[in-house]
Amino acid sequence: MSVKQLQSRIRGAWYGVFVGDALGTTLEFQPKPDAQPSLMTAHAEIVGGGPFRLEPGDWTDDGAMTLCLAKALAEDTPPEMDAGRQLENYVRWWHEGFCSSNGRCFDIGNQTSAALRHFETSGGSEAPLDEHGQGNGSLMRAVPVPIWLGLRSDTEQEAAGQTDEQFQERAKLYTRASQTTHNSPVCTMASVLYSVLVFQALHGATKEKILILAKGMAEEMARKEKAFSIVVRAIEGGLTWEEIEPTGWAIHSLAVTFWGLNQYSSFENGMIAVVNLCGDADTNGAIYGGLAGAIYGFEQNPGRWVGALKNPDMLEKTLTGLVRGA
Ligand SMILES: [Mg+2]
Repeated sequence: MSVKQLQSRIRGAWYGVFVGDALGTTLEFQPKPDAQPSLMTAHAEIVGGGPFRLEPGDWTDDGAMTLCLAKALAEDTPPEMDAGRQLENYVRWWHEGFCSSNGRCFDIGNQTSAALRHFETSGGSEAPLDEHGQGNGSLMRAVPVPIWLGLRSDTEQEAAGQTDEQFQERAKLYTRASQTTHNSPVCTMASVLYSVLVFQALHGATKEKILILAKGMAEEMARKEKAFSIVVRAIEGGLTWEEIEPTGWAIHSLAVTFWGLNQYSSFENGMIAVVNLCGDADTNGAIYGGLAGAIYGFEQNPGRWVGALKNPDMLEKTLTGLVRGA
């Protein structure tokens, strides 16, 4: 794979998160419609609004936490990862609006705020174990980790390395970055599955290959956590629009993502379909956008979406820092 292709996939993943968040926020919390809107009439422009009455191009917690994580990782060299620095950035976002698009934190998930409170009072960089906490809040910001891991290796061959040892080493770091705020088996497995796939897509895996890899991993996870059988069905293309539930459960977010990848062959159409499921539209848009962007590349991300994003300098500079080191 050429350097140009790698760059396209990195930018695809990165901007995929932000356009998904900014497009989806308009429909956030709305109930799923009774019938699927056609792509021609569906919500397909970044216009802001939504429950937080945002301006066009504003992102929400998904984008802000992605930036916080990327800025923290920019100062690390794998396999060293300073989880405390990640949490410090999240706390700055929470209290000061650091990495937000409009200077403030106007929405934060329950698991995230509980974990940040835990960090502030105890200094603990791992959220307390909570098997029932299974939100999608660590999935929505996961993309910087596979970008960082792939680019700070000595050679491209090493970067895409597939030995068991390399795989396990990377999985540990995905786990660590997720458990700062989301410490449950479901969140950990969801985050590892998603991050592994983003990593492989960045390094050239086709959509077909990604779905095969996803199926094997999700089947294994389903043996430990039954809920992953929903994810397996979505990967196989077995979930219909009627069955898809766009909630904030990590399992549902993965199912929505694979549904979007299976049903559509372009980044744009998949994104429009995912976001128009409503519900946790911004987060599901961000999660779909990160993986689909890595698979399809930046060229498929519509210019009108990328061009609508607020603070383009912040987005670009943070990505550059993540790729090259701060
Ligand atoms: Mg959000």
